Amino acid sequence: MTGASLIGVLALQGGFRDHLDRLDAIGARTRPVRSPADLADLDGIVIPGGESTTICRLLDAFELREPLTAALATGLPAFGSCAGMIVLADRVLDGRADQRPLAAIPLSVRRNAFGRQSDSFECELEVQGLGGGPFPAAFIRAPAIESIGHGVQVVAQVDGRPVAARTEHVLVTAFHPELTPDDRIHRLFLEMVAEHDRP
Ligand code: GLN
Repeated sequence: MTGASLIGVLALQGGFRDHLDRLDAIGARTRPVRSPADLADLDGIVIPGGESTTICRLLDAFELREPLTAALATGLPAFGSCAGMIVLADRVLDGRADQRPLAAIPLSVRRNAFGRQSDSFECELEVQGLGGGPFPAAFIRAPAIESIGHGVQVVAQVDGRPVAARTEHVLVTAFHPELTPDDRIHRLFLEMVAEHDRP
């Protein structure tokens, strides 16, 4: 790879702008993704928070499901925050009956695991592998991870419930690192992308 990584941010619904801004700020090249053509030449993709049932529906409406699934299956690094974590999971509990996630990482998630909007909270979270002390994590109608499959490592928990996990090239957080002024999670994702591109 030469130069900065090109990171796509799925821009169908939700908080994509904050991810684009954060990635720009730490030196990535970025592109909002709204069509299959926008997937060309990406080094990584971010699925933002928002409403996972809507994002799943729009993936079909914008004909992105098939090409994105194919790109993920061949190892395109991905990072999902909150609703993005749900979209990347392979099983959704308390989802809509017709909600189909992308199955990019073998884990099951429960939607709204911490209660409704009024139960949104911020906390200082220990994240394994992240140097520099606890991470300021914002949870908004957040999901939690219920079970993990082969090769998945849980890297953070709240009250014993897993809220962040990763494989070699997929990272998911139940919280919104794009909403607090700390860029370490986005930098971690860029490191995963660089690691993946290294011959
Ligand atoms: N509760 C939302 C969902 O299920 C996620 C909330 C968020 O992304 N802040 O999609």
